[in-house]
Amino acid sequence: MVANGEQQKQDLNVEEELLQDSDCCGNGCTNCILDHKPRPSKRVLLAGKRNVILSYTKFRLLRRETLESEAESKTGGQVLLLHFGHAPEEPGAGTEDDTVLDIPPGHHVMLRIGSLLRPYSPYWSDFQAKEFRILVKLQAGGPMSRLLAAVQPNDLLEFRGPIGQYAHDASTAKCIYILAQGVAIAPTLPLVRQVLENEEDMSRVWHLVCARDLRHVYFREELLEFAQYWNYRSCLYLPHQQCASAACQEAGHCVPECLHLRRSLRYKETAKVARLDACGLATHLNASIPGQRLLIVAGDSTFQKTMAQMATQSLALDPANVYLL
Ligand SMILES: Cc1cc2nc3c(=O)[nH]c(=O)nc-3n(C[C@H](O)[C@H](O)[C@H](O)COP(=O)(O)OP(=O)(O)OC[C@H]3O[C@@H](n4cnc5c(N)ncnc54)[C@H](O)[C@@H]3O)c2cc1C
Repeated sequence: MVANGEQQKQDLNVEEELLQDSDCCGNGCTNCILDHKPRPSKRVLLAGKRNVILSYTKFRLLRRETLESEAESKTGGQVLLLHFGHAPEEPGAGTEDDTVLDIPPGHHVMLRIGSLLRPYSPYWSDFQAKEFRILVKLQAGGPMSRLLAAVQPNDLLEFRGPIGQYAHDASTAKCIYILAQGVAIAPTLPLVRQVLENEEDMSRVWHLVCARDLRHVYFREELLEFAQYWNYRSCLYLPHQQCASAACQEAGHCVPECLHLRRSLRYKETAKVARLDACGLATHLNASIPGQRLLIVAGDSTFQKTMAQMATQSLALDPANVYLL
């Protein structure tokens, strides 16, 4: 154990010494690697093991699934599910049992291909098996998107992390509002899971999911599973939802009384054909429920800024309790 502790201290020192300006992807991430250096977590220290991803490490692509093709996407970008597993440098060297993969909820990892760096937010990871999954929306003309469009099972890619600042404290009950935009719903799933799967956690979660329409709501099955818990509520905001009925075609989107939309929703699913705005946010205030109010926003930087600004007023939030992923 002492040896492992020493090893971890050395690993940490090496990370801190080696971190340079060139380790930043330059995209202006809210949680830049230079401000939030990958460090061993309490969980890893308790396990007495080393987190394999603390420095750039090879992961093998185990599965690649197209969730939305370019032709299906109204916004032009293909959506891929990529599942990676740690690829030991020297298979069978006997040291691999000393390692785990720890990517805490709300943290992201950096992908490096040559000198190109881009952050991605895993929505699932396995501590012991050292595997993780990301959902990627390819951006037209984007250099990393071009490379990821071509990756195939068995390809090796390098990742480093975890990077982030969010840490959940389950000891006091909170009201947690989680706002997600498009594919950025992915990194919010572990945040929801960590509250719901802890029976002693009395926090409540409001999961507000913004997507073009129902077809672009990813992980609907997971959301339905979450809905079975007493402390979870969700609402889908679908401004471009439109069925083929004459009334909805004329309105340019499904009308509030649209039967087609109502029939498309599953048990406990709530949807609004509107953008999430200040009034919409205020309907989730639930002022009579006690507990510290906390906001987590996942989406592009414009969405993050707009929502954080609106929500601090509509949900009576202290700006210190706002986390942008
Ligand atoms: C903390 C963090 C976590 C991220 N996690 C994920 C993730 O899990 N999955 C994922 O697909 N992407 C994620 N991204 C975005 C990702 O890092 C890349 O920016 C994206 O894959 C495009 O890279 P690129 O090199 O192809 O294009 P870039 O050169 O980065 O961008 C090409 C064009 O697309 C625009 N663009 C880039 N990303 C977005 C976006 N999300 N929404 C709208 N426009 C965008 C850029 O502004 C630019 O105009 C994350 C970004 C951050 C900051």
